[in-house]
Amino acid sequence: MTDYKAVKEQLINHYRRRGYVKDEKAFNAFMLVPREKFIPEKMASSAYLDHPLPLMNTGQTISAPHMTLMILDYLELAPGQRILEIGAGSGYQAALIAAIVAADEAPGHVYSIEIVPKLVEFAKKNLTRAGFNNSVTVIEGDGTLGYEDKAPYDRVILTAAGPTVPPPLIIQLRIDGCLVMPLGRPGLWQQMTRYRKINDTELIEEKLSSVAFVPLRGKYGV
Ligand code: SAH
Repeated sequence: MTDYKAVKEQLINHYRRRGYVKDEKAFNAFMLVPREKFIPEKMASSAYLDHPLPLMNTGQTISAPHMTLMILDYLELAPGQRILEIGAGSGYQAALIAAIVAADEAPGHVYSIEIVPKLVEFAKKNLTRAGFNNSVTVIEGDGTLGYEDKAPYDRVILTAAGPTVPPPLIIQLRIDGCLVMPLGRPGLWQQMTRYRKINDTELIEEKLSSVAFVPLRGKYGV
């Protein structure tokens, strides 16, 4: 079995030097979650190249490692939080989040919705073999409608790009919570944007960085 510890540490040092990621919790999660278990076995040697990888032959992609760690920073995660993710894909981002919110017996949990049935199965299988099936639940459906059963959420993260924030996701967000999404039309770039819910009618918007994500489908997608 290949030991990826050294190559992971190299990436972390690079991100630290460049100031890409600031929260040590993100680095700990990166060390803990085996990215090689979230991609097809024949691609395992590419697991720690710093670029996106194809998700089966669905046209979807698993984000580059630096992006997945920046998302952990953007979400301001803490043990015990309840998280909603839209776009489970491989399940890797959900596992990274779970490594923080459900660390050391903390009661946090990640609910991750995926619209492509084949990827629902893929994510579930990967999460089980990586040991995160107790802290992440994958649900098949249109994530732009949210997942009312477990609302409200402390954090909501969309890993696909849409033109506006889907209204059900704001309703299902806890007051003082935040939602992070790539905002914009499909094409080259979108703006990673964070919304803080101040009360039932007010959101504060913050632009974070330029990103390139696959399109958000569904009722409030593109
Ligand atoms: N977070 C994933 C990568 C996501 S790629 C990972 O760590 O691997 C974006 C994913 O969003 C794709 O799997 C795509 O099928 C899914 N998606 C797009 N629109 C969706 C919607 N409305 N509801 C749920 N999933 C959606």
